[in-house]
Amino acid sequence: MPDYLDEVRETCIAGGDEGELASYIPELAAADPDRLAIALCTIDGTVYAVGDAEHRFTIQSLSKPFAYALALADRGLDEVLEHVSVEPSGDAFNEISIDREGRPRNPMINIGAITTHALVGDAEATAEESTARVIAGLSAFAGRELEVDEAVYASERESADRNMALAYMVRAQGKLQDAPRAAVDGYTRQCSVLVDVRDLAVMAMTLASSGRNPVTGEQVVPAWVCRQVLSVMATCGMYDAAGDWMSNVGIPAKSGVSGGVLGALPGQVGIGVFSPRLDGFGNSVRGVRACERLSRDMGLHLMQAP
Ligand code: GLU
Repeated sequence: MPDYLDEVRETCIAGGDEGELASYIPELAAADPDRLAIALCTIDGTVYAVGDAEHRFTIQSLSKPFAYALALADRGLDEVLEHVSVEPSGDAFNEISIDREGRPRNPMINIGAITTHALVGDAEATAEESTARVIAGLSAFAGRELEVDEAVYASERESADRNMALAYMVRAQGKLQDAPRAAVDGYTRQCSVLVDVRDLAVMAMTLASSGRNPVTGEQVVPAWVCRQVLSVMATCGMYDAAGDWMSNVGIPAKSGVSGGVLGALPGQVGIGVFSPRLDGFGNSVRGVRACERLSRDMGLHLMQAP
């Protein structure tokens, strides 16, 4: 398996170096654009990783499915659905995208993710308690204690005007539980958690194993939560390229602005890829390339009979 993954990695590099680093968060613009790491986690918890697998980067939007999972586990489906819908938005990740009932369209775009962050914990939880629970929950998905990159946090907090506007909009609709500043600060800390590709593969495999971490054996969230989260990832996980992704790769997935991509195929495999250059939709160019290859070679497309 490592030889095969090395070969996939080489092919992805040979495919070209197009794409741009995310620049709207100053710390992300300083990333090394040439890094490429790929990891796979199997259902028995075996992890294979190649490339810059030790390199840690901030999780950014890849945190969104896991925070959604925690909110569902803590509040139940009905209460979460009252606050955040599950429809693809067709808008950019940072748009004011709300439905006729005033709900953010889905939890994978910023407006829905800020709302979801505030729903983690019980109804009485303070904003600080929600954030602590999110970071502990992300750690349980990864199977190790994750830390926040304080420099990225400070950098993104300084440039969070747009997310603040989104939070005020949800608050005005009566759908945001916390004060806008507290919710955005907590959400920004959630995005600033440091991971490597092994973490992503284990986190993805936990979702793909009905909520049981294949390495630690911990049941992190109930099985029904994973079905809900994977469904929303399948339809809304890859920014505006979700339809293209589903037809080409066919794996529930999420990407993020730091260059991470994770894919979770129920009962089969968790994938984590990191490569910072992004395409016009905000998806990692080589990350997408690697997943296309893995899906094709290993017959991972959900819509393809085995
Ligand atoms: N922290 C980023 C933001 O809110 C996450 C965006 C992303 O990865 O899509 O802008």
